[in-house]
Amino acid sequence: MTDLKLQEQLMVLDNLVEHQELKDELQSLDEFLGELQAAAAPPPPPPVKAVKPRVLWRKRDIDGNIVHARPRSSRIQSKKNDHIRNTDPPISAPETGCEVAFATETFEGFLQDLQHSLIDSSDDEASSTSKDPLLASSDWSMRQRLSSEKWRAERPRLVNIAAAQENVARHICQQCGGNPAVVRCSDCRPRPFFCAECDISMHTRHVLHNRDAMTAGFYQPLPPTMVVVDKALCHCERLVPVEIPDRICGCSPELLRVSSGKTVSVITMNGRYDLSMPELNCEACQATWAAGVVDLNQSDYWPATLHFATIYATDVFYSFEEMKMAAPGLSCQAFLRMLDQQTVRFGRTGKISADSFQRSFFEWEAVRYEIDNICKEEPFMCPACTPDMLAVSVDGNRKRYRFKNAARSEEQAIFEGVFIANDEEVTRFVDYIHNTSKHVSGRGVCGGEWSAARETSQRSASKVDEEGLELAVCRHGVLLCALNMYRGEIFAYPLYLQRKLASRQITFFCMDVTCKYWPYLQRIANSCPELQHLLKMKPFLSVFHAKAHEFKCEVKWSGAYQDGAGLTLGEEVEQCNAFLSRIAVTTKHMSKAGRTDMLTLMAMRWNQQKFNNLAISLSQRYQKATKALQSQLQNLETMKGELAVTERQLEDWVSDVKEWGDATTTTTTKNEVDALASRIEVLVASIKRRSQRLYKDTDGNKGRARMRRKIREEKGILTSVVEKYNKIVPNTETLCLETILSGDTAWPWQLTRSGTYLQ
Ligand SMILES: [Zn+2]
Ligand SMILES: [Zn+2]
Ligand SMILES: [Zn+2]
Ligand SMILES: [Zn+2]
Ligand SMILES: [Zn+2]
Repeated sequence: MTDLKLQEQLMVLDNLVEHQELKDELQSLDEFLGELQAAAAPPPPPPVKAVKPRVLWRKRDIDGNIVHARPRSSRIQSKKNDHIRNTDPPISAPETGCEVAFATETFEGFLQDLQHSLIDSSDDEASSTSKDPLLASSDWSMRQRLSSEKWRAERPRLVNIAAAQENVARHICQQCGGNPAVVRCSDCRPRPFFCAECDISMHTRHVLHNRDAMTAGFYQPLPPTMVVVDKALCHCERLVPVEIPDRICGCSPELLRVSSGKTVSVITMNGRYDLSMPELNCEACQATWAAGVVDLNQSDYWPATLHFATIYATDVFYSFEEMKMAAPGLSCQAFLRMLDQQTVRFGRTGKISADSFQRSFFEWEAVRYEIDNICKEEPFMCPACTPDMLAVSVDGNRKRYRFKNAARSEEQAIFEGVFIANDEEVTRFVDYIHNTSKHVSGRGVCGGEWSAARETSQRSASKVDEEGLELAVCRHGVLLCALNMYRGEIFAYPLYLQRKLASRQITFFCMDVTCKYWPYLQRIANSCPELQHLLKMKPFLSVFHAKAHEFKCEVKWSGAYQDGAGLTLGEEVEQCNAFLSRIAVTTKHMSKAGRTDMLTLMAMRWNQQKFNNLAISLSQRYQKATKALQSQLQNLETMKGELAVTERQLEDWVSDVKEWGDATTTTTTKNEVDALASRIEVLVASIKRRSQRLYKDTDGNKGRARMRRKIREEKGILTSVVEKYNKIVPNTETLCLETILSGDTAWPWQLTRSGTYLQ
């Protein structure tokens, strides 16, 4: 209780000081005016400037008492600090100290400090005003250390302030200015304190505000349906803030009465609120009105079901979508758990149901999609690639599988066929292709054994339903279309996507196994003439994947050597893979429809992001390409100068290399050295290939461990083969395991055997 007494006495002192203060201040103002008049022409000297912020407006209540912005404890503290601060030369305040003036001055001090530190971090020259030369340090870690030290020094004060904030001091209602305050509403700042009556009148209108009751001697979070009556908490009805019509019948609007209807839970970003729906009835003609789904939509709410026992603020959906884009692995349950925590924090109760949330979210998105359709927005068309598309890159990813036993519902996906092709259609196409053309079973093998894609594959009998997704992406990383894989990566899948995209003017068709796919396509086109037009596209082996192929194969197919491809990599699909794979964490447990919808939705938003950044990224690409072209041309010129070659010779060389690449690989092994050499090539390619796909094909440790074991085994074999080779061929440069796996060297047998290469 000594605290209270102290407070009272301080209050009295305050009032006394204040009278003196007013006089002082008037005087200082007079002086200030006089000085201004005296020095009319020259700008006011610096000391006057310091006086300027001392003209302060104080908030007063109805009795003329100063209404303090902060609790007394912190004000007293700041006073102490200020006396220390006042010894600093830059702030030379005259001794007319009043509390509020001091408080603002501390803030000014902080602001000044902040500005100093900003200047320090941006410009060392400006640090002349700083007292601490260390602050101007160009060393980031030093600045960080100083900054954290400052925070540490400040912490006790911040703790005090935080503790003082919890103190329920006696406040006067800031609305009527008369009654003692019983409720604090942080959403009503700058006037957060309310008496019981003002609280009711204000928060009947602002239902969703988060209030705290002060009656218990501490701040107690209050649900919207609780009000303070006679210092006790009482239950009351609060209406959902939806738009209500001005008139519902021919009678005068004054006769309309608003009453509370059925209770609903409203979900906003602050959690769940249990409120009542408003109802209107006319006293004259007994007409009634209750809010329907349409009225909810007009007020930015979305019902969980069409009978709505729960309604969501659309804000929640926007936030969920944005969170999902930022953290694709976020599950719906995790998001709702976060909202549940908000509910508890603000003193309300009740959980949010997860089932209806997702359903409702997709329905909301479906409406947005339809609106976009009406506006003729094409979510899966790249504006930079219309009408001519330079390159499409296609690849499968087996991480986006779905468990068979996860939610076997029969519902139809909302976005069926929008992005992911209809499964039956794909199956029909695959069957047709397999029936019309005699397929060769076996793996698509190039430069080693890997299972990137093959002609046929049996439907796997594992726990997964959809095995993954085959994607088509333009060279700007915009998703174009996709299909579900059920049989591993068979060639018919990219064929389906290629056929689907054939209507757009595509120049290059990029894949990681083009060298095997293209002959397949040629064969298929023979037996299915209607697919002949697909051969008009040019084959393009993606540039990085080409490194793992046989060298000849790289020369012949790699996109890096294709005329007109520019800096296209053909690997654009990988960044989309990385994004969509993170969504797979949640979609693998979803129902078939839910998975389709979620993947389609995320794909649309991904494209939206790409479109938004298109202008910047295109101009950056253009700059980069221009620079790269210039430097490459310069390199060529200098090399031509050094080696004394003419343009003509150069062209001959290029065509020679091309010829060599086109020639069918001579697989007949003439001697042991050749056999060893080709064995080494195959092993190296296989190891590289496996390492590349280590994280792409498997998302479990088990699978990766299996792959690593294979890599280890192959490396063991490779070591022994390389040793054998080095023994047999002692005159050439000895091979070393590290250099051949790094892939920067050309094979010695290529250098010696193919004359055209060395010359
Ligand atoms: Zn009041
Ligand atoms: Zn409020
Ligand atoms: Zn009426
Ligand atoms: Zn594009
Ligand atoms: Zn190849």
